[in-house]
Amino acid sequence: MMRSFVRTVLSALALCGAAAPEVPAQGTQLPAGDAFTARLGDRARAVPFVDHPDGGLALRADALAEGLGGQLVRDTARAERFRFVVGAVGADIEPGSAFAVVAADTVPLSAKVFRRAGLVYVPLAFAADLLPRFGTGVMYDTEKREIRRSAPAVASRRAAAPRMAAAAAPANTNVRAEPDRTAVRAPATRGGNRQRVVVVDAGHGGPDKGMSGPIGGGPKVYEKHIALDVAKQLQRALEERGIRVVMTRTTDTLIGLYDRGPMANAAKGDVFVSIHVNAANPRWKNPAAARGFETYFLSEAKTEDERRVAAMENEAVKFETKADVSRDDPLGFIMRDMAQNEHLRESMQLASFIQGAMRTVHPGPSRGVKQAGLAVLVTAFMPAVLVEIGFGSNPAEAKYITDPQRQAELAGKLADAVERYLAEYERKVGG
Ligand SMILES: [Zn+2]
Repeated sequence: MMRSFVRTVLSALALCGAAAPEVPAQGTQLPAGDAFTARLGDRARAVPFVDHPDGGLALRADALAEGLGGQLVRDTARAERFRFVVGAVGADIEPGSAFAVVAADTVPLSAKVFRRAGLVYVPLAFAADLLPRFGTGVMYDTEKREIRRSAPAVASRRAAAPRMAAAAAPANTNVRAEPDRTAVRAPATRGGNRQRVVVVDAGHGGPDKGMSGPIGGGPKVYEKHIALDVAKQLQRALEERGIRVVMTRTTDTLIGLYDRGPMANAAKGDVFVSIHVNAANPRWKNPAAARGFETYFLSEAKTEDERRVAAMENEAVKFETKADVSRDDPLGFIMRDMAQNEHLRESMQLASFIQGAMRTVHPGPSRGVKQAGLAVLVTAFMPAVLVEIGFGSNPAEAKYITDPQRQAELAGKLADAVERYLAEYERKVGG
């Protein structure tokens, strides 16, 4: 077991992948119509579009770039990577990845870039949201489905400090009803302190259902659904406590294990909490009887049981693309990485607060704070924990963790623990 976490983070950091904290594609309020137009001055060009495999629409990147007077250039060093150039701004994109790298900023997209029949497609939000934010002079007209570029952008190589671009952008781009949380890169302030950001990660998603249960029948439960429900409850609970939350997913979609951390980093998270459901090892004497909750922080797995969870949670890697798999590097186990090491003690502290808080409501037993080499935690450069809120393989516990009221209660306790951790951290660093 415990095979696939042994990888290097370097490539993951260089260019991250998969779906981002979702602004649902439908959030772009598409009017009826059947074409998109890219306009540069008087020149207009139709931009072919297709349905995005993960929902929403996607635009053909080369046509979009050319329509805006730019071009899509294949990276000579990395054939799978492309640079979308408009004016002085270049956005590096890669099929399979839901991130763009613009002037050294890693920017989450609403969905991944992908390739079809040799052509590269970007999610609509790339044109409607990302380009306008980065000083390209591009704006998106929702009603006309038109991506317009007015004057050439201010010709500074980093014209694109996102905040400045946002300030300078026309106020009527009218693209989203709701601000994209991940787009807010300026630290929000509250009472003079930087507002803390918690990245909440719902485990699994899409084709990766995670565990299913319970053993012996009864209403079927899937980990991916429970994880998402509890993650959303946790989001609510944290926001009620004045803590900003970034979700790695808000719908039933697959996000690569090694992409969740970089998403958290891009969101400038202070804490990363991944929610999961446990499953008994079928070889156990009475697997259906196993129950309880446990919290992991990243380290090498020490016990057989920790290895079981690591193997189970790292299993999702098989759903990822070939490109992801090539990140394998037997020598690259990230525990050697200083950045993560600094967070070990903090992660352990957070994990212990979480166990303590859950104990007050969860029927248990508490299986304690544990350590394992969990892929999802490897690339998050912040205190990061993975919570197994219960065993979906146990009939009673499967019922417990799918009950919305119980979920809310657990989420409230998780939020308490995170809040306590953040308060102690503030105190330590001198507020
Ligand atoms: Zn899981």
